Amino acid sequence: MLILVATVIHGNERSGREAFQRFFKILTDEKLPIRAHIVGIQGNIEAWRRNVRYVDEDLNRLWTREHIRRIRMGAFHPRTREEKILVKLVQAIRHYRSKLRPRQLIWLDLHCTSSPRGTFVVSTRHHANLFLASQLRIPLVLGLDHILHGTAIRFFSEIRNAVSLAIEGGQIGDPRAVHVHHAVIWTALKAARLIPREYFDIVAPHEKFLTEISEGLPHKLLVRYAHFIDSTYQFKMLPGFRNFDYVRKGMLLATQWDGPVYAPISGHLLMPLYQPQGGEGFYIAREIKH
Ligand SMILES: [Zn+2]
Repeated sequence: MLILVATVIHGNERSGREAFQRFFKILTDEKLPIRAHIVGIQGNIEAWRRNVRYVDEDLNRLWTREHIRRIRMGAFHPRTREEKILVKLVQAIRHYRSKLRPRQLIWLDLHCTSSPRGTFVVSTRHHANLFLASQLRIPLVLGLDHILHGTAIRFFSEIRNAVSLAIEGGQIGDPRAVHVHHAVIWTALKAARLIPREYFDIVAPHEKFLTEISEGLPHKLLVRYAHFIDSTYQFKMLPGFRNFDYVRKGMLLATQWDGPVYAPISGHLLMPLYQPQGGEGFYIAREIKH
């Protein structure tokens, strides 16, 4: 088993990196007998140094089949800083996979949102992903993989024997996001049956914490709408929105270059954008019961 914990794929979403360091210290201090290779990955380290989402372009939109194919063939010529990072990451991951030949690979991609209450797991509908996601006790968001192209979780979900999830830990800069990411790492390892029974008491408080912070929130949602923007849109979200806020069709949500932006459908707001960089202003998701 190979566990890849990806942090700072977006440079200003810093909590995952801190959480992994905290996790790794406990792992080594307690000398936990875990039968897996666990690798922490620092994604956009250059953007992390500058505390921005990205420098030239969004690293989490570059993992397309075409890019990966050309990197493998040695025919990819990076032009931006993020493309250079992509090449390094793909080569490093390839190195671990060929050296360790893991029967299963888990990609945990740790992110944050620019709006409050952003704790949820993003999964595809692949069975193995859904299984692990459902063990994490936080709201599950489906359907983003059909909307966003070139994300790392989509790339990994297409690899055989790979489980791939993105975990939104909370609002950027909120210390609680570090707790969430830390708790998710432990909970995911237990769900993957990697924690021996005699160590379950290390994980129990994390599971309890994740259950508590998710109380009252929808369990499972399907994204039905994404409001795409670019830097020329002058997009400005109205203040005060949080993740999971219920909005009704026609409600004023934001303004942009051509005027007011109204909710095109009713549903739960996800990831309303409160930072200058980003390609989506907000998403609207509907709760699903099955
Ligand atoms: Zn992110």
